Amino acid sequence: MLVTDSKELLPLFIAGERRLGRGDEGATLYPATGEVVARLRAPSQADVEEAIAAADHAFRTSGWAQRKPHERAAVLHRVAALIRERAEPLAQRQRLDNGKPIPETRNLVASAAGTFQFFAAALETMEEAMTPSRGDFFTMSVFEPMGVVAAITPWNSPIASEAQKLAPALAAGNAVVIKPAEVTPLMALELAALCEEAGVPRGMVSVLPGRGSVIGDAITKHPLVKRVSFTGGTSTGKHIARIAADKMMPVSLELGGKSATMVLEDADLDHAVNGVLYGIFSSSGESCIAGSRLFVARKLYEGFLDKLATRAAALRVGDPADERTQMGPLITAKHRETIESFVALGRSEGGQLLTGGKRPEGALYDKGNYYLPTILAGLKNSDRICQEEIFGPVLVAMPFDDEEDLLRQANDSVYALAAGIWTRDYQKAWRIGRAVQAGTVWINTYKQFSISTPFGGWRDSGLGREKGRLGIQQYMEQKSLYWGLNTNPIAWAN
Ligand code: NAP
Repeated sequence: MLVTDSKELLPLFIAGERRLGRGDEGATLYPATGEVVARLRAPSQADVEEAIAAADHAFRTSGWAQRKPHERAAVLHRVAALIRERAEPLAQRQRLDNGKPIPETRNLVASAAGTFQFFAAALETMEEAMTPSRGDFFTMSVFEPMGVVAAITPWNSPIASEAQKLAPALAAGNAVVIKPAEVTPLMALELAALCEEAGVPRGMVSVLPGRGSVIGDAITKHPLVKRVSFTGGTSTGKHIARIAADKMMPVSLELGGKSATMVLEDADLDHAVNGVLYGIFSSSGESCIAGSRLFVARKLYEGFLDKLATRAAALRVGDPADERTQMGPLITAKHRETIESFVALGRSEGGQLLTGGKRPEGALYDKGNYYLPTILAGLKNSDRICQEEIFGPVLVAMPFDDEEDLLRQANDSVYALAAGIWTRDYQKAWRIGRAVQAGTVWINTYKQFSISTPFGGWRDSGLGREKGRLGIQQYMEQKSLYWGLNTNPIAWAN
């Protein structure tokens, strides 16, 4: 199970060197069995200092930022190719890292390769604008790299979320310090190694997998860190935003969600059932965009829920290494306890359990952090269980009477990350799709992604956008250039 020798400690990426951290020793565990996957020593405060100083040095002296866009793009294309070459071992490692089923981790790896490829292409074709002049000068809007930027990521889709930050940040010419979640350090270390192999200068990427409240905090506060791109929980995001305000530092915050998925009376029900199941239970619900609040037209409500609960109970929960597994274990035993306390809360608020609500039984499940797909009904949208993010395989279902009632309930949330609409009526889809408050709306599909399409949340779901052609500019400062064309000195001073 171990990815290194039993006594060997996993080296980190600090200041251009592969070396051990100088903080506390710890181990990461395979969520399916509790076996040790990697032993490592966390970075110390001195390691943070050295990594950031080296990143700043590499930014200023390595020539990376000065390379022509097509030259940097060629290196990013090589990273994409290396990820594809090593796709299967990377997917297996990602499975060990966070216990997601192997078909899912393969998709994450493919997505990471696609992200490097996309940002290489976006970089090579990025244009700077000549803006309309209003005087005897011509004007340009150009973009400059920032210096050292930080990427702080959660444990649920490491390789994909790390690539989503690393690729555009490097494309922009910056040095990057990655702080992966303490429980899932492996993929960031792999990506850093692949970047170096592909030709990114040493020191431009450091990986510091320590505790967020210590290492993440120190990185965020560091004066040489010019931007933080954060994905994680809303309260951590707000904490980072407060530090950023003091430093006047731009941040992007990809935060939590409680996304509404809406089944209208005229929906294609086979599509809707599959879509709702996939939307909430894939990744065991450990997904920011999980469709965790279901609204069903009152006329369909009971029949739809019967069907949904029967199908949810038949989902294959089990070994993440098994190709047929649909739901793997949860990330940690502690996270499962949090989910259990949410289900208990929902029941105390009057929720009726339609399926799940417990751990699966049997030898396969004894050592892993498994939990069954769970559906609760009979609740009000204002109940805590319908308002708070659970980040697990728990769906709350509610009926609605008409479009006005639906939109009132769907938009009544502090979160506004994503939404899903199931209907055959394109006019309704258009009206509701425009009126629902969310960063992403899926119509007759759910949880589909394209790197070329911007992603982010409104309200407590975040600030800023990732992905898309403009993703690179998120890691750059805009600058306006005025080029005087006047042959005479400025008259005012005569
Ligand atoms: P989290 O506790 O906020 O942690 C996210 C990252 O922040 C981890 O690397 C964590 O380190 C670090 N961190 C914790 N405290 C910090 C601090 N004071 N300063 C700087 N960094 C700090 O979130 P999580 O439990 O890992 O992830 C689940 C959350 O992420 C959910 O709310 C989910 O919705 C959200 N998420 C959002 C998106 C999106 O794109 N909108 C995508 C995926 C997940 P340690 O874990 O090592 O302590």
